[in-house]
Amino acid sequence: MQSKSPQKIVVIGGGIAGLSLGAALGDRAEVTVLEREPHLGYHASGRSAALFTETYGNRLVRGLTLASRRQIVDGGFVAHRRGALHVGWRGDDAAIDRLAGELQALVPSVRRLSAAELHALVPVIAEEATCGGVYEPDAVDVDTGKMLAACASALKAGGGIIRTGEEVREISRTANGFSVTTGTAVYPADIVVNAAGAWVDVVAGMAELAGLGFQPKRRTAFLFDPPAGADISGWPLVVDLHEQFYFKPDAGRLIGSLAEETDSEPCDAYPEDIDVAIAVDRIEQATSMRIGRPSTPWAGLRTFAPDRTPVIGFDPRLPGFFWLGGQGGYGFQVSLTLARLGSALISGGALPADLAALGVTAAALAPDRFLAMAPAP
Ligand SMILES: Cc1cc2nc3c(=O)[nH]c(=O)nc-3n(C[C@H](O)[C@H](O)[C@H](O)COP(=O)(O)OP(=O)(O)OC[C@H]3O[C@@H](n4cnc5c(N)ncnc54)[C@H](O)[C@@H]3O)c2cc1C
Repeated sequence: MQSKSPQKIVVIGGGIAGLSLGAALGDRAEVTVLEREPHLGYHASGRSAALFTETYGNRLVRGLTLASRRQIVDGGFVAHRRGALHVGWRGDDAAIDRLAGELQALVPSVRRLSAAELHALVPVIAEEATCGGVYEPDAVDVDTGKMLAACASALKAGGGIIRTGEEVREISRTANGFSVTTGTAVYPADIVVNAAGAWVDVVAGMAELAGLGFQPKRRTAFLFDPPAGADISGWPLVVDLHEQFYFKPDAGRLIGSLAEETDSEPCDAYPEDIDVAIAVDRIEQATSMRIGRPSTPWAGLRTFAPDRTPVIGFDPRLPGFFWLGGQGGYGFQVSLTLARLGSALISGGALPADLAALGVTAAALAPDRFLAMAPAP
């Protein structure tokens, strides 16, 4: 009996979303990843703060994150047991108490810290300035470079192909599937995976589909030196309760960020001097640190669906067109689970049992949720 030839799947986007799904598909399909830039992880995936926190995002995002922990740990992707600390200021007591209650209900190891405990953990925050905070001890730094490289290796080990420097310019329907055209080649595909990060709606437009309303939002970060003689190795990610800034240790220095969400077109995001200056000022006002001139500023786009939940699944308007977008500010913490789910959806398998147990359904993540109200053609 003649065996059925494996499906040809073209994945558009060589960030963590596209690479992790390509890796999860393994040798069950002929996977080709097309990335416009000269190297993988050039956009959002090369610009993140690399934190994994189980208290971040809405209920579905937290479910996806919880389901990823084992793979992140087992894969050797934990770079440091960092911890995450939400800091309240004078007058914020009620808000901090409320947040502590909410986060403890989600993650029992979360603790309410007094002002003295917070100052002992992060001595650059004066005891008199804070009302204490909410501490998540099990938040970790992820080795994002290792994760990208591991996904790329697994993809290739499964027979997959990665082409960098190839921008997809056209997606057309053929009798058997799709024809995906780049500047240099044409790729036939049974399935097209749209993992184009900030460009997901642009790529949908190439297939003549209206976008789902994704919004890229710029976030700025930079590096600075810790105070002379300070041992910052045990500092957690420190985030202002009002999300006006954050900072965290990174390889002996500190990453600072304005924690902003500025709407942007899809583009190669660059940092605005004013955003860096505001972040420096806010961190200096809140701590005893004097940053002076920060170095290596960068910006990246965090892309959100209208309900801030990732979108994964086939588009009911165009058979074979698969969405994998809207990873927002949590792409690394949710990607391995989304990849498992995507692989199951593409190969007609069941929803992973651990996800179902966490109350995450395929329907809640499907693109259909934005199409229900669309007028009939
Ligand atoms: C400052 C900042 C801090 C962050 N901090 C964290 C954090 O602490 N923890 C966390 O989990 N996440 C964090 N994130 C979010 C995380 O980085 C993203 O969610 C994730 O990287 C998104 O991955 P992606 O593959 O969807 O997008 P991308 O990495 O942007 O990849 C999409 C790729 O598609 C390619 N592409 C687009 N159009 C085409 C085309 N026509 N043809 C070919 N290729 C195309 C692009 O070139 C791009 O490389 C942060 C992001 C930023 C910017």
